[in-house]
Amino acid sequence: WASSRHANPLRRSFACASAPPTQEETFTYRAEVDRLMDMIVNSLYSNREVFLRELVSNASDALDKVRFVSVTNPDVLKGREELEILISADKEKNTVTIEDSGNGMTRDQLLSNLGTIASSGTRKFMEAMKEQKGANDNLIGQFGVGFYSAFLVSDRVRVVTKSIDSDATWGWEATAGSHEFKVTQETDSSLKRGTRVTLHLKEDAAEFADPVKLSRLIKQYSQFISFPIKLYSAKK
Ligand code: ADP
Ligand code: MG
Repeated sequence: WASSRHANPLRRSFACASAPPTQEETFTYRAEVDRLMDMIVNSLYSNREVFLRELVSNASDALDKVRFVSVTNPDVLKGREELEILISADKEKNTVTIEDSGNGMTRDQLLSNLGTIASSGTRKFMEAMKEQKGANDNLIGQFGVGFYSAFLVSDRVRVVTKSIDSDATWGWEATAGSHEFKVTQETDSSLKRGTRVTLHLKEDAAEFADPVKLSRLIKQYSQFISFPIKLYSAKK
């Protein structure tokens, strides 16, 4: 499985819906990912707060990776020494942002990780969910539902990422219910290393832009994360 994934050139995995002369490219999700997202959004409504645990756990994994690399190559930390997770809420804009100073993603990683491959955890989750005819807390806890759980609470999700293996910063953006995502090379260099995920919350999920609520969820779900989690709220 792993080798066939690498043997396939990326071009074969995507249908490029448009090829504008600008840096922006539009891709369609692989059918499997599309189905997975439908399934998550349709069956996890009452558990939608799990999005935060999933995004914090991805941030923590990314920090683990950069920490590991830094053991043999301390230079990867230059310009951004801290290994941390920054979460901010903006009630006015109705957004929540989860940022990490982890390993980040190259363009290729961005395309495959957030578009074509359902992680092995989410695959197992899908299978178990089919067998049990729906999700329950036990299943969610066992497998995790991954990045796409962001769409439980978001109309639109934007990812900006800077990999330790590339000088370029890449943006990824998708709207809930759409079968497409867009990838752009970013000129904004405010992200020194790592990944920033901005959730544009659904109208009925505005409660998550409340730092008190976020703080409670972090305590509830992410108490065993071994990196500092700093919570900010936009000033009025
Ligand atoms: P899983 O974490 O089980 O692999 P996810 O759907 O949560 O599945 O994430 C898919 C992949 O996307 C991850 O394996 C990772 O490669 C990449 N990814 C997601 N979030 C981040 C992040 N914050 N930093 C770096 N890579 C990430
Ligand atoms: Mg994950």
